Amino acid sequence: MISTPRLTPKKKELLESMQIIDGMDILLHYPFRYEVIENKPFEQWQVDDKVVFEGVLASSMKLVRYAKNRSITRFTVLTEHDLYEISIFNRPWLKKISIGTKLTIYGKYEGRQKVVATTINEQPLQEQLGIHPIYHLREGLSQKYFEELVKESWKLNKDEIIEFIPENYRKRYRLYTKKEALYHLHFPSKMNEVQQAVRTMKYEEFLRFQIVMQARRCQNKQYELGSCKKFEQEKVWKLANQLPFKLTNDQRKAIEHILQDLASDSVMYRLVQGDVGCGKTMVAMFGMYGCVLAGYQAALMAPTEILAKQHAENLKKFFQSTSVRVGILYSSLNAKEKQEVYQQLSEHQIDILVGTHALFQQQVHFAKLGMIVTDEQQRFGVQQRQALAQKGDKVDVLMMSATPIPRTLATSLYGDMDVSTIIEVPKGKKEIQTYLIKENSIRSIQKRLEELMDEGNQIYMVCASVEKNEDFSARNVQDLYQNLSKAWQGKYRVGFIHGKLKSEQKDEIIDCFLKKEFDCLVTTTVIEVGVDVKDANVMVIYDAHRFGLSQLHQLRGRVGRSAKQGYCYLLTSSKDEESLKRLQLLVDHSDGFEISQCDLKLRGPGDLLGYRQSGIPTFVLADFISDQKILNQSRDDASEILNRLECYPLIQQYLIENAKNYINYFD
Ligand code: ADP
Ligand code: MG
Repeated sequence: MISTPRLTPKKKELLESMQIIDGMDILLHYPFRYEVIENKPFEQWQVDDKVVFEGVLASSMKLVRYAKNRSITRFTVLTEHDLYEISIFNRPWLKKISIGTKLTIYGKYEGRQKVVATTINEQPLQEQLGIHPIYHLREGLSQKYFEELVKESWKLNKDEIIEFIPENYRKRYRLYTKKEALYHLHFPSKMNEVQQAVRTMKYEEFLRFQIVMQARRCQNKQYELGSCKKFEQEKVWKLANQLPFKLTNDQRKAIEHILQDLASDSVMYRLVQGDVGCGKTMVAMFGMYGCVLAGYQAALMAPTEILAKQHAENLKKFFQSTSVRVGILYSSLNAKEKQEVYQQLSEHQIDILVGTHALFQQQVHFAKLGMIVTDEQQRFGVQQRQALAQKGDKVDVLMMSATPIPRTLATSLYGDMDVSTIIEVPKGKKEIQTYLIKENSIRSIQKRLEELMDEGNQIYMVCASVEKNEDFSARNVQDLYQNLSKAWQGKYRVGFIHGKLKSEQKDEIIDCFLKKEFDCLVTTTVIEVGVDVKDANVMVIYDAHRFGLSQLHQLRGRVGRSAKQGYCYLLTSSKDEESLKRLQLLVDHSDGFEISQCDLKLRGPGDLLGYRQSGIPTFVLADFISDQKILNQSRDDASEILNRLECYPLIQQYLIENAKNYINYFD
């Protein structure tokens, strides 16, 4: 039984806000750094060294006030070595200490026996030496208080700590037991104990993650024998030769993978990842063609109606020379239209159905569904994908992601899927010119924007919110629309769109924008995926610091879709160095792989790849950019362990207990 130290309601609430609920959570809240307090012999002191030493106050304290609430106190201290001159800022109360008092002083050595102190106390130095963990804590919780909590929690729970890493692996890599690791993380006596403990916990985090992901993969492969789809691959490649352009090698490889999956006897569970505009949708079309040739139906699910319609049009064009029949279904069709689609679908008069959420409603019956494709997979809920897959028997699943990560990482992070990666971008694509504007206004670029519109370009103006919001100070669609309409009245036509509008309204607006009835569209991120407007080559993003890096990259992927130059202006009034550095990354990099890697480093995979709250274990200490060696090792070990799962009852137990948490992930 896990026990929790007694807490006042206030402290309890504070801890809960940090996701610390019980005594074990306290032990799993690791220090984020350590302060090492050691006394270096005086002879070895160098200028700028952080020093700590003991001495006796040798002069009275002289206090000089030089501004309101500002002061400096100077005094001398006699150590066993010499007389030192100490100064310390803003401690006017110190002057009460009497000469002869023994003091311990922390500070910075300035050279020539001078020290600028940061802390002075009267406890003996000997009692203060050692390594002190420092924890990330909310205001209202002191380091000292938390240290006590950790001590108490340790006493209460040290025998409740469950090992995860099997003994043979632990010994192979000379890791601590989990109990030892936690002890050394919280109560280290040497820094190399901390390192060893961190190494242990990193390996555990990776191993746990790998085991869960790979277990899911085994499950897919073992229990879901698919239908071997029989078709002539030649026919697919023949269609490829009719394209006005050449497929890139990566596209060809991805298509090969998909066709093999379709023909194989296990269910396809594949992710195609690549930067915006690398031609993923194209790849999916060939896959669906294979499926149709084998006599099955395919469904393509898009996150928005606008996108679904575009896909349907593209598919119809693409399949013009074939007998493939494409249908479309979305909620705003009228009852008669819908009925017609339902009927054609159940009578197998439609081969490929493109649509939105409407695809997985109850009335939808496929005659012979063989494959589903989800475009922009991170946008779909798990249940939605599941509901659609259940409309057929052993349906092959193909997912598209525009948040690509390097191959080596992908094999690890998407351990439960097969991954095809498209790196090559079709020739002739121009890099989008991106600028960081350090104010949340278009003042400095207004002329340029007007020029661009005069040249026939259209502009997206992206806001982080729809309307004014007290708790969220960001430029909003409504205000901006009003301001711009006024400013550009009679010169440029401005429209607006956001997710709260009805779907027919949204369609109409996009349609108007497509027909160039607006020069400028004020919008939220509803246009993030899919919309293809040939002349929309300029994007302005307000409050850019409020968006994730990958999201910004995807947003700007909306412009420069044709051969014309695309421009993206990131506006922010943030003064935060980190935020500005992040945004600068977008100015400097145009490669989606690099950007998602930076994003992963900043936000972790949970947020970026959608694991959060999926029951998939996440990482606290492990960082799979800098710890790739451990990551790869844990991947191999996890596969070894799963192959002999009967030898590892604790892991078996863990999988069983957690199955209900992660079973739905990506299904
Ligand atoms: P994604 O879905 O990866 O963002 P799309 O499949 O929508 O990319 O392709 C973007 C554009 O590039 C489309 O207009 C498509 O016709 C075109 N395209 C795809 N593959 C190629 C290629 N190999 N060469 C030239 N253009 C291509
Ligand atoms: Mg696409």
